[in-house]
Amino acid sequence: MRRAIFPGSFDPLTNGHLDIIKRSLPLFDEIIIAVLNNLEKKPMFSVAERCRMIEEILPEIENGECSLIVDSFQGLTADFARDKSATAIVRGIRAVSDYEYELRMALMNRRLEPQIETVFLMAAEEYSYVSSNLMKQVFTLGGRVEGLVPELVEAKMRDKSKL
Ligand code: ADP
Repeated sequence: MRRAIFPGSFDPLTNGHLDIIKRSLPLFDEIIIAVLNNLEKKPMFSVAERCRMIEEILPEIENGECSLIVDSFQGLTADFARDKSATAIVRGIRAVSDYEYELRMALMNRRLEPQIETVFLMAAEEYSYVSSNLMKQVFTLGGRVEGLVPELVEAKMRDKSKL
């Protein structure tokens, strides 16, 4: 059983995240999309809202043999991965700027859990500048994020801005 976790804030899920999920499908039997409850960040969406959105979007993915599961966690990614008996942590790399941070995290996670390997997948060119933060900034200032986040996410962002 090749089980991976794909950890992140997913505040909110973007088409860049979806691209990484799709690229991971042939590599694993099961992927747990692990929504981090980061107590330090002030999110746009609660963890429950983020998980629900992802669960609603997942049926649109043709996942073939690979099971896709949504879960949330707090604390160390390495602990969560070990508790779930995952053998890999999937992360996306967009640009060189991601690399330094990701390298540090991967080496630390390897030190904590040597049997768990971090697997880096390269972002699709068309989403390589897409981040949840940029989507929130642009959207909040009235810009269009169409085509960069799933339609459901865009609708939920619109609902939030009306509150
Ligand atoms: P975190 O706060 O842990 O970085 P994110 O939700 O921002 O969480 O990202 C989760 C993972 O998805 C990270 O590995 C990040 O590099 C990757 N990722 C984010 N946006 C994109 C994108 N547009 N293309 C590819 N990977 C991405």
